[in-house]
Amino acid sequence: MALSVDLTNASERLQFNNMIPNRKSLIGLTHEELRQVLIDIGIPEKQSRMRTAQLWHWLYVRGVSDFSVMKNISKDMRNLLSEKFTLSRPDIVEEHISDDGTRKWLLRFPSPGTGKPVEIETVYIPEEGRGTLCISSQVGCTLNCTFCHTGTQKLVRNLSVEEILLQLMVARDQLGDFPNIDTPQGAIVPGVGRKVSNIVMMGMGEPLYNFENVKTALLIASDPEGLSLSKRRITLSTSGVVPNIKRAGEEIGVMLAISLHAVNDKLRDELVPINKKYPLAELMDACRNYPNVSNARRITFEYVMLKGINDSLEDARDLVILLKGIHAKINLIPFNPWPGSRHECSGWDQIEKFADFVNQCGYASPIRRPRGQDILAACGQLKSESERLRIRERLALEAMISGHGEN
Ligand code: SAH
Ligand code: SF4
Repeated sequence: MALSVDLTNASERLQFNNMIPNRKSLIGLTHEELRQVLIDIGIPEKQSRMRTAQLWHWLYVRGVSDFSVMKNISKDMRNLLSEKFTLSRPDIVEEHISDDGTRKWLLRFPSPGTGKPVEIETVYIPEEGRGTLCISSQVGCTLNCTFCHTGTQKLVRNLSVEEILLQLMVARDQLGDFPNIDTPQGAIVPGVGRKVSNIVMMGMGEPLYNFENVKTALLIASDPEGLSLSKRRITLSTSGVVPNIKRAGEEIGVMLAISLHAVNDKLRDELVPINKKYPLAELMDACRNYPNVSNARRITFEYVMLKGINDSLEDARDLVILLKGIHAKINLIPFNPWPGSRHECSGWDQIEKFADFVNQCGYASPIRRPRGQDILAACGQLKSESERLRIRERLALEAMISGHGEN
């Protein structure tokens, strides 16, 4: 049975309300910004590089959230740091654990200025040999793809660098994925055996509409001296913000996924309305020019299977024609329903026929098994607390999902 824990009243179990608004967090600063901050509080410039490296190690290799455990830093400096700064994590409002091991956390971040906190969802998907964390980049989304639940929620705001990174750090805290604090100093976190081995920017929001923050967060996540996730294990998914695809390739250098979903402009204009601004020909050009793509580093094209809309064998044929000359793999995503959604998922037979066709044309086309459906953690089902499902809607959804399984 799926497990859901509402932690709102369980402050004794988690450190609550520790996002202290009048102390700046050190998480999310670049090396250079961190060094500058240290100089500003009086650390001699000569020492600043060494101190920055030490702090970086505690923050991102050890994952500590308390200055007092930083044993190689003098007590005076630790006191100074804790007077001025914080390393605190957001409140974990809810944790859901699916029957299939998928976990979803509802995290609450304060919004300085407005006083109104925001809530976002982060999902962990364990698989054989790897574990993928699905990270949000915005609260809500400005785009409104017809099949996506997040798209029905207006954009509330962009997430900061700190908030993007904290999703990864909270997941690692919760999964026990940071090394034990008692391991010898200087310990290097082994790349193998990590619970979070991959991250995908496929949660709420359009990452390329929050470019600068996503860029800085991903560069910190892939920094070899810190969280050290390989850029090959980081995938950024976009609905097709063409000018920023080029920048993502040049300035971030992570793997690219495109939410394609339709193979002609007429249908894509409807399903993924950003297509009206950046039509397929421009999108495909941006993919052709994405740096470092090869057979070993392919672009992923996501294709949600919508019954009677985009799932015919003609669509499959046109998809293959469209992708000609691009090192691509195609992720076929069975549509995940949500209350009020106007689409239906294609039947399994049709999905398999579609996959077989594409496969025979030489493209890998795995059908993505829906994960965490019982806790509404699947693609496109994320939506923040402010608009969470009412019980009646939830029951309606469960009925839809059980009907969906009979397709
Ligand atoms: N905004 C970005 C990233 C977040 S969406 C983007 O659109 O790429 C992550 C993936 O989930 C996208 O491919 C999106 O098209 C897909 N998705 C959205 N709603 C879905 C649904 N209801 N069922 C299946 N996949 C969905
Ligand atoms: Fe936004 Fe992506 Fe959902 Fe489209 S699919 S509404 S771009 S989050």
